[in-house]
Amino acid sequence: MKTGATRVLIANRGEIAVRAARACKRLGLGSVAVFSSADRGSPHTWLADRAVCIGPAPAGQSYLDQDALLHVAMSTGCNLVYPGYGFLAENAGFAERCAAEGLVFVGPPADGIRLMGDKARARRAAAEHGVPVVPGSTDTFVDAEVALAAAADIGYPLLLKASAGGGGRGMRVVERAEEFTRLFDQASNEAREAFSDPAIYLERYFPLVRHIEVQVFADRHGNVVDLGERDCSVQRRHQKLVEESPASVLTGPERQALLEAAVGLARGVGYLGAGTVEFIFDESSREACFIEMNTRIQVEHPVTEERVGVDLVVEQLRVALGEPLSLPPRESWRAVHAMEFRLNAEDPASGFRPTPGVLGRWRPPSGPEIRIDTFVFESMRVLPFYDSMLAKLIVTGADRESAMARARHALDSLEVDGIATTAPFHRALLDDPDFRANRVSTRWVEETFLPGWNPAQSKA
Ligand code: ADP
Ligand code: ADP
Ligand code: MG
Repeated sequence: MKTGATRVLIANRGEIAVRAARACKRLGLGSVAVFSSADRGSPHTWLADRAVCIGPAPAGQSYLDQDALLHVAMSTGCNLVYPGYGFLAENAGFAERCAAEGLVFVGPPADGIRLMGDKARARRAAAEHGVPVVPGSTDTFVDAEVALAAAADIGYPLLLKASAGGGGRGMRVVERAEEFTRLFDQASNEAREAFSDPAIYLERYFPLVRHIEVQVFADRHGNVVDLGERDCSVQRRHQKLVEESPASVLTGPERQALLEAAVGLARGVGYLGAGTVEFIFDESSREACFIEMNTRIQVEHPVTEERVGVDLVVEQLRVALGEPLSLPPRESWRAVHAMEFRLNAEDPASGFRPTPGVLGRWRPPSGPEIRIDTFVFESMRVLPFYDSMLAKLIVTGADRESAMARARHALDSLEVDGIATTAPFHRALLDDPDFRANRVSTRWVEETFLPGWNPAQSKA
């Protein structure tokens, strides 16, 4: 690799931009950070070789401004564009524009993003490659009456999903036919606003499932591998709060089948780079069904890194530069259980309301098997414009039990004040008998845990 002349535009902010700047350093690549005027002085701007302001605070005028990003990339002599997660990470048009300018977009080619980013098309691709999908509609709908007719074949409860969706938006659970039209219009309008695309498809809704996903990676040399699975069932409003690897509920053969299905799909569609194939898993029937594929690095990738012993962001950059995958063989993976807890600027005592403001004390825990991925520092202003995630606490242990003990210790020594965070939620979770016994589903937080939790009685 000729590293001297290679330079990466980091098209993101926050934790993932910090990670990307460090990965560039590790590889000896140059890096250029971008920032909105509100993010001036953010750590990602000083960790990169240089930083350029790309506009005012609103993401639409800065981190999502494709013209500004491409202009900076070209004028600073970048060859690669690293999108991270969120923002333009799954924007096929942007990947295409990068390619047209001769820039390497760190991710799959635009066609791959387009195929998997359209969730209805992705479902069809999964089915074609022998991956079981959730029973549902093959078509997408913009008209509630037409969709209602198709709903009868699927049955209730069913889930309305935005074809262009992500981040839980444009999704509605419909319990009865009478409420179908109203909820369809809500979902469709939400999808139009969030993704400029009102198309909705229908899936059977499974009230009692786990979310299990497989990390896949492919290079330009024909290698397509899995890096194990993650259980992300602890969710609120379809958003992940805690993730772990391995997924302890799976038997060996069940795990094997899931990993093979994910790799088969990635291979079948000619995938390139890091991706995640998501499934729902029914613990009673032991069935797993494909729900979607994310064509980017996932927020929860560190639990995989801890198990496998690899830096996935470094690997993404290497693969983008045309190098073959250099992943540790399965035999050398660490025999550990890894868990990630998302520390968000949200108040769990008042409905997870976002709590932007000035952070007071910020003393993250440290020690063996404790990792903090973050971009925040003491007295920093947490902005209202962006994602609320402040940091990820990642712990490992010989088994789930010892990982939880370590998480408890880490959360007890975390010192944070000034703004409310999700730390008390995680502490309470670690005291909960169901969570400790791994008796959870994707609805467990909202239906069982939160109704029985009194935040006032928990330690702050
Ligand atoms: P997003 O793009 O918002 O991540 P997903 O399709 O991955 O959308 O769904 C988000 C979450 O919603 C999943 O993690 C799972 O908890 C839940 N979910 C998705 N599809 C179903 C389904 N058919 N039945 C039950 N829960 C589902
Ligand atoms: P994941 O499974 O990786 O959490 P989702 O499909 O739920 O992926 O959503 C994408 C992720 O990107 C979210 O978790 C969210 O935290 C992150 N994200 C979304 N928007 C932004 C943003 N504006 N800035 C930073 N991160 C974002
Ligand atoms: Mg998802």
